[in-house]
Amino acid sequence: MRRKIVAGNWKMNKTATEAAALVADIRKAANDGNGPVEVVICPPFTDLKTAAEALKGSSIGLGAQNMHWKADGAYTGEISAAMLKDLGVKYVIIGHSERRQYFAETDETVNLKTKAAIAAGLVPIVCIGETLDERQGGKMEQVIVTQTKAGLAGVDMATVVLAYEPVWAIGTGLTATPAQAQEVHALIRKTLAEMFGADTAAKVRIQYGGSMKPDNAKELMSCPDIDGGLIGGAALKGDSFAGIVSAGA
Ligand code: PEP
Repeated sequence: MRRKIVAGNWKMNKTATEAAALVADIRKAANDGNGPVEVVICPPFTDLKTAAEALKGSSIGLGAQNMHWKADGAYTGEISAAMLKDLGVKYVIIGHSERRQYFAETDETVNLKTKAAIAAGLVPIVCIGETLDERQGGKMEQVIVTQTKAGLAGVDMATVVLAYEPVWAIGTGLTATPAQAQEVHALIRKTLAEMFGADTAAKVRIQYGGSMKPDNAKELMSCPDIDGGLIGGAALKGDSFAGIVSAGA
């Protein structure tokens, strides 16, 4: 049985002061993460210390939204896995489509970051997904298989969480139908089975992300290969985030 995992990606939202208030709201609304669903929040780097403080005593995990693959050095503006660990961070989002689109991340950097995160003891949440053009051009399968194979080549999958995020559904209000999402999740799991064997593939948790809300979360998370959600907009309010968490129970 795969334990469902719901993670909030706050993106570039909330100052540290605002983060403390949002963490308090989420703790209250989501019963401190003490339910059957694993709960994670991923605030901006500048909020992590405050969020770690504010989460003390709760079962909600703390994640970051990105990291560099090098341990240290002359990489102005970058953050290492050790820096995150030192703040109490346990998870890290890797290869979000906004990082790929605006910051030139590739399957190769995703692969490097994923391996570095695992080596440091962080749980990577690795994002893959096709654009609207790719889907409409009949390339969805090819894109998903390529991103999975290249991003995860040689990776120890024991702790890795994947997130299928159709780029056309992120922040657009458009959601993949449960049938569309399930089709891709099954394709990802089949690809994982080819790469790592059926046992490993059966254990990897695959979140869906893309305009998930309390009112569509249950149907999506009831699909056999959907093991939770990566949530953007709806993670910025305690009630809506907690509504999605309970939909996964
Ligand atoms: C995301 O940023 O990963 C995401 C899924 O955003 P939204 O829920 O706002 O579509």
